[in-house]
Amino acid sequence: MNLNQPVTYIKGVSVARAELLYSELGIRTCRDLLHLFPFRYVDKTQFYTINQLQQNSSEVQIVGKITGIKTVKQKRGSRLVATFADATGTIELVWFKGVKWIQDSLKVNTPYVVYGKLNWFNGKASMPHPEMETVSAYKSKLQMAMQPVYPSTEKLSNKGITNKVMRTMIQNLLQQVYGSIEETFPKYFIDEYQFFGKKEALLNIHFPKSQELLAKAQYRLKFEELFFIQIQLLLKKLIRKSKIKGYVFEKVGEEFTNFYENYLPFELTNAQKRVLKEIRKDVSTGAHMNRLLQGDVGSGKTIVALLTMLLAIDNGYQATIMAPTEILATQHYNGMVELLKGTNVTVNLLTGSTKTKKRREIHQNLEDGTLHILVGTHALLEDKVQFKNLGIAIIDEQHRFGVAQRSKMWQKNELPPHILVMTATPIPRTLAMSVYGDLDISVIDELPPGRKEIKTVHRYDSNRLAVFKFLKDEIEKGRQVYVVYPLIQESEAMDYKDLMDGYESISREFPSPKYQISIVHGQMKPADKDYEMERFANGETQIMVATTVIEVGVNVPNASVMVIESSERFGLSQLHQLRGRVGRGAEQSYCILLSSYKLSSDGKTRLQTMVETTDGFKIAEVDLKLRGPGNIMGTQQSGVLNLKIADVVKDSPILHQARQIAIKTLNEDPNLSKPEHELFLKTYTQLQKKTGIWSNIS
Ligand code: ADP
Ligand code: MG
Repeated sequence: MNLNQPVTYIKGVSVARAELLYSELGIRTCRDLLHLFPFRYVDKTQFYTINQLQQNSSEVQIVGKITGIKTVKQKRGSRLVATFADATGTIELVWFKGVKWIQDSLKVNTPYVVYGKLNWFNGKASMPHPEMETVSAYKSKLQMAMQPVYPSTEKLSNKGITNKVMRTMIQNLLQQVYGSIEETFPKYFIDEYQFFGKKEALLNIHFPKSQELLAKAQYRLKFEELFFIQIQLLLKKLIRKSKIKGYVFEKVGEEFTNFYENYLPFELTNAQKRVLKEIRKDVSTGAHMNRLLQGDVGSGKTIVALLTMLLAIDNGYQATIMAPTEILATQHYNGMVELLKGTNVTVNLLTGSTKTKKRREIHQNLEDGTLHILVGTHALLEDKVQFKNLGIAIIDEQHRFGVAQRSKMWQKNELPPHILVMTATPIPRTLAMSVYGDLDISVIDELPPGRKEIKTVHRYDSNRLAVFKFLKDEIEKGRQVYVVYPLIQESEAMDYKDLMDGYESISREFPSPKYQISIVHGQMKPADKDYEMERFANGETQIMVATTVIEVGVNVPNASVMVIESSERFGLSQLHQLRGRVGRGAEQSYCILLSSYKLSSDGKTRLQTMVETTDGFKIAEVDLKLRGPGNIMGTQQSGVLNLKIADVVKDSPILHQARQIAIKTLNEDPNLSKPEHELFLKTYTQLQKKTGIWSNIS
């Protein structure tokens, strides 16, 4: 029998059941059903008598007989109640759904094995929707130590496709198709890594005879799933590198050397040097660079960007850097003007508020090539902006830009400019491998020397007065303070009220004229926001009350205290980003996380993590564990959410191994053209045809 045949070929699967399997679980073929994996197994080696049942016994198996059945009218419909007895006592079996169908199938005074979870009420036990089968059916079956529990839906169980029915279907299926299950791993591979064969793995994933066999089956199937994802990602990268041509920056020239030797205000950290080398290697090959540069806030990405742009200029190309907000773009621009003073490099700024006359001048200079570096916002993506020869585009704070916008920049030249995406949101290694596995990734994992670690504490709302006192002391010393309120989209009105209440109470506590307060929030006009930001940046105000609009990139080195109100409502990465606003100057900086006493266990973990570490990668790992990959940026398009059995977080050791072995395999055989890799190639080709999701990751 062929695995591509519809499930109706399986004994016991009617057309009606097949339709249900398709509409509820997307299962059409025998192969689909074979790959519906149990999400849990129950151990049914143990039997209980009714007088042994404990209030705490969760799922139990009992042998007995039904002594009576009745239906009890309820507000809506009715429920079915059966009295179930063994020699030691009675319990009630209860059904709320499928009453009619079940009532017809129950036999009184026939020995049954029932299994399920107990509900206790007034010292009496009942078992809602038990699994049951007659003792004779139970005995006639091949007995397994462990039983699989399959994913299901309400509709499936209502229509009689219970877990037991599912199990029987899959058992029948396995009997019918076992011989036609095809191996996907070459023999040498199975031998070398001691994998289960595909058949054994599938048999034991459904009907394991022991924990050990189950573990082996799971390992083989998880490995296989992750391995083929890695093969796809790595091949995609190989293809990109060999097919998509990029400009060659072959030499380190005058501008780079001049700047490096005479104007670089500090020694680069080793991490910065290493990343620059990685970039230089990329842009010298003739292939197109598509590199992600990760580095915590303050790790010094900007200087790496600048040096990279100088490299482009030395080779006769222009460069651009795009930031997500006007404030950030302006900051980059001012910083670069300052750094490039005394060099021959020209730099200009283009944002939404650039005046028409200036804009024309910039367009002109871009087209005739006299402008080397253009800094800007989204305004850069406008059609009128034409470069003479754009060699590299650098995108800062990547999460603010969509993929579509990134690729739009490509269309401006003959060849696509090299792309360097910089982000301060660390991507955990597991995700980097599974989601961005086709990108090149550089990491700045070292802060410039002399930084003081930000001291972070968690305080309850009732400590507020002490916190205010601390703020006054810091302001007295000439420092500035942020006070941030959460902004959660669903309840914007309420958030706004919280912010305004907070602003008022802070105004009362910090009266003018002694204290000056800025306020910035999402409902303000951009010009007003900028005005307030500027007052704070210039030191005219000591306190900045804000929602999370200040999250990205803003640099006020004299601000040394970050107070986060209702911090339990923020996500970890957001807390980390916010904290990064302080600790930018020479002074000791502080982050104070205020919360109510009512904390969820996740909330507690988040705050504790913040207090314990400032390492962005550690924080990202915790975040991933708490939220799961589905909520982390970028995963939606990647397919890691469609995994059938592996979990990129829980199975990260297997993921690492799969990646290493995939790399080794492709190093030895980049086209999978060796005869022993025929099976790999076949699976890869099938996956490429089927999903297509891999084409739009970057
Ligand atoms: P980010 O990675 O957050 O963009 P920046 O590039 O803004 O960080 O750098 C943060 C600060 O650290 C800047 O003031 C920058 O001048 C400084 N800096 C960067 N690299 C070094 C270094 N190697 N030594 C000393 N200071 C550095
Ligand atoms: Mg930056």
